[in-house]
Amino acid sequence: MDPRVADLVRAVCPAVDGADALQRAGADESGLRGRADLVARPRTADEVAALMRLAHATPFHVTPRGAGTGRCGGAVPERGGVVLDLTAMDRILEIDEAEGIARAEPGVLLGDLQAACEARGLFFPPDPASAKECTVGGAVATSAGGLRGAKYGTMKHYVLALTVVLADGSVIRTGARTRKSVTGYDMTSLFVGSEGTLGVVVEATLRLVPLPPHAATLVAWFDDEASLERGIAAALRVRAVPRALEVVDAKALSAVAEFVAKPEWARAGLVLVECDGDEASCARELSMFAAALSGAGGADVRRADSASERDALWEARRRVSRAVRAKWPHRFAEDVCVPRTAFVQMLRDLRGIAARHGLDALGFGHAGDGNIHASVLMRTGDDGERARAAACVGDVFRRAIELGGTLTAEHGIAITKRDYLPLELSPETIAAHVAVKRALDPRGILNAGKVFPGT
Ligand SMILES: Cc1cc2nc3c(=O)[nH]c(=O)nc-3n(C[C@H](O)[C@H](O)[C@H](O)COP(=O)(O)OP(=O)(O)OC[C@H]3O[C@@H](n4cnc5c(N)ncnc54)[C@H](O)[C@@H]3O)c2cc1C
Repeated sequence: MDPRVADLVRAVCPAVDGADALQRAGADESGLRGRADLVARPRTADEVAALMRLAHATPFHVTPRGAGTGRCGGAVPERGGVVLDLTAMDRILEIDEAEGIARAEPGVLLGDLQAACEARGLFFPPDPASAKECTVGGAVATSAGGLRGAKYGTMKHYVLALTVVLADGSVIRTGARTRKSVTGYDMTSLFVGSEGTLGVVVEATLRLVPLPPHAATLVAWFDDEASLERGIAAALRVRAVPRALEVVDAKALSAVAEFVAKPEWARAGLVLVECDGDEASCARELSMFAAALSGAGGADVRRADSASERDALWEARRRVSRAVRAKWPHRFAEDVCVPRTAFVQMLRDLRGIAARHGLDALGFGHAGDGNIHASVLMRTGDDGERARAAACVGDVFRRAIELGGTLTAEHGIAITKRDYLPLELSPETIAAHVAVKRALDPRGILNAGKVFPGT
């Protein structure tokens, strides 16, 4: 970056260019790496707006960034320029208990927001496994989902209004502070999940619900694959809505067992069900799931006895992804979503597709909403193996679409999945998206080329 431009950036917004900061800002959890020329760390929306006005006038590339836990390269500065690190804007601005609304800056950690709401008897349901590390802004920009999606949905169901700085530095407010509003287009939904390509979220107004008085967890271990498949199918037929219905397959469990040093967890499959509400309804619903899972051949089906066992199980579930990465550092990790009734088929086909490419695969994820975290595993990660794994991933995506599914449930498209977009979107649909991008970011400054190549 031209040093004179860097000086202009510093004049409008705090910024750093030390080697460590540039190194950290160059990557996210996708494993991809780009080149950050400067890291801007605004403390206010005005500083973000001033930076974007400068970027638009100059122009230079800007990559918005939260905690960098994204899995698809969204926060990777692929084309250099300024990384806009929003973590210093980290204030919870308001929790309105009567309205059931929270207002937060983008750098607030999602886990901190959840805790602050719970301390007031309110509940912010979206719960990505990374909640303790990821930011509100990143979660809005990816429409993050997570462990409670089966009952409560994802970020897109909780964002009422946003303040957004557009690529030219103008500031807009979308949505309303009310539960209903149809004034104008639904711009809030447009920005939720837009992966930092359309604007920079500088404030989010979020809908809260009352904190459920009680939650209870059922754990079901399986000793063979066929019983696990029957168990998942049976659980999905239960006429109750659990807040979580999670599945971990044998390979993923083997990684977790090593990671948390619990060899007894290396079994053929695990299903976790969590219900919330009053104590009696939790007990009634869990007994329905217990009957379904036992009837399907669950080897060990029981309620988590104590709060500590419950916490240990959910903590382990949150760490599956890191455990898998520790065991198989070379892998492609995808997050396809299929109709719930096709979850078992997709899990089975994932392994079959990988075997056809001479590879292994594993799956875990949110069966309650059809979302499989599918990892294609590599032994060495050399060029030949990567090419085979990439072809395998393409076939996994094709199969998910054939089953009526979608490329990504919650991680987004960014860099890693953009070449596969035509599998799901028609040329006309892609053209409509690109027209929106060009209207809002005519100079192609924000996350240029991500999601839609050529933008
Ligand atoms: C171990 C692990 C487990 C995970 N589990 C889940 C899970 O269960 N569910 C799930 O949905 N995700 C999960 N993720 C993915 C990731 O944590 C989420 O996508 C998260 O919401 C990203 O937040 P972040 O602050 O890290 O954003 P970043 O990674 O920094 O950015 C993500 C995207 O958002 C954009 N962005 C960030 N802030 C802003 C802003 N203020 N305005 C505009 N654009 C912005 C970036 O440009 C980028 O495109 C997991 C990741 C890890 C590493």
